[in-house]
Amino acid sequence: MIPNSDETIFALSSGALPAGVAVVRLSGPATFSVLRILVGELPKSRFAALRSIRSRDGRLLDTGLVVNFPNPASFTGEDCAEIHLHGGKAVVAALLSELESFEGCRIAEAGEFSRRAFENGKLDLVEIEGLADLLAAETEMQRRLAAEQSFGRLSAVYEAWRERLLHARAMIEAELDFSDEGDIPGAVSDRVWPDLGALAEEVRKQLEAERAGEIIRDGFKVVIAGSPNVGKSSLLNALADREIAIVTEYAGTTRDILHCELDLDGFAVHLFDTAGIRETDEPVEQEGIRRALGKMAEADLILHLKDASAAAGSVDLAYDGDVPVITIGTKTDLRNDSSPKQTYDLMISSVQRAGMEELRQAILRKVRQKTDVMSLAIPSRIRQRQHLRDVLTNVEEAIKNVHIGLELRAEYLRRASDSLGRITGKIDVEAMLGKIFSDFCVGK
Ligand code: GDP
Repeated sequence: MIPNSDETIFALSSGALPAGVAVVRLSGPATFSVLRILVGELPKSRFAALRSIRSRDGRLLDTGLVVNFPNPASFTGEDCAEIHLHGGKAVVAALLSELESFEGCRIAEAGEFSRRAFENGKLDLVEIEGLADLLAAETEMQRRLAAEQSFGRLSAVYEAWRERLLHARAMIEAELDFSDEGDIPGAVSDRVWPDLGALAEEVRKQLEAERAGEIIRDGFKVVIAGSPNVGKSSLLNALADREIAIVTEYAGTTRDILHCELDLDGFAVHLFDTAGIRETDEPVEQEGIRRALGKMAEADLILHLKDASAAAGSVDLAYDGDVPVITIGTKTDLRNDSSPKQTYDLMISSVQRAGMEELRQAILRKVRQKTDVMSLAIPSRIRQRQHLRDVLTNVEEAIKNVHIGLELRAEYLRRASDSLGRITGKIDVEAMLGKIFSDFCVGK
């Protein structure tokens, strides 16, 4: 999709109908002429005023607030307007069909308003991605991470790096240009290397924080594992506070991976209940166990459940990966003198809801350990991280290859700043624009 900004686009930009108020947004060259026909005299720019909204044949469609934003000081950079009308399905449908009847006016595609904002230099790609995340944010930490990106703080970091690289290249160019004349002592470019070393360190720090960004954006993965019947499904249900998994006294009930999402103090935590690990000849159960082991390998944390009431302690699960494990004794309400004397990190009873708060706090401590970063201006997408890695590699090459000549070292720096340009969308972006904007809803 290459946007054609000769066309005026419109869409319902507010949420599902019916609602108290619906906001229809317009952007493009015909915005104000269309608006004048619908509402008469336009209010003062950027001020809301109540207007009757009429079809061209004089039917009263609704009354509502109208705001207009002349270009370039608008979200898209074009002439924009918002009509706030009553949020009834028929009311909105009447206005949208009236708008569609105007020459050069059409309903917007998903993300088209944001795409026009990008094309007109109102937002860069990092801000656009942040905006998409902001709209999708469900937890407080997801909102804060997205806000850093959508309000331009992360872009400012990348822009400052790009300027330092440009400065370094300019210094090197100067030395190359004047080196024949013998009046430059040859040490001009030497002054840039310490700053580039510092820059490489800053990029490295951002990359170290990448896992934190990923966990905040995509969630912290916790896998509940252990032998059959130790109470895994019961724990999932207790933590989620609803029936997600079927709980029975028969071993091997959970064969596939069940999942729920929790909001722990603003962090998104994905909880997975897996098939009990045991020796079995039953093919469906075997497949469940295979998937359980796979899920454990990609987890951020494993809750290893053991039945603390059973006379014979449950068989240990054979896990020797490097994912952190919390060992949990279950069914404490059934414990008696013959119960195992083993110690556990935590003890719970899902039936009595005992130990749940301690467990939530223990999970939260692990989440915080992995997301302990100074600032939330960190990359949260694979795309951004890949380009950052290229930045780092090229700056490192430029610094360490002291014998290859200044021209080649400057070439590495050019590549590094190109990679930064790709993150913010200043260069080479056409290929991925379609993908990025299609993640938006219509009306944004
Ligand atoms: P899973 O196979 O590990 O998922 O175990 P389930 O959650 O299906 O539980 C197996 C059996 O143990 C069921 O009969 C549960 O009702 C019972 N159970 C699980 N947790 C508790 C608990 O905290 N106390 C008691 N008394 N029974 C429990």
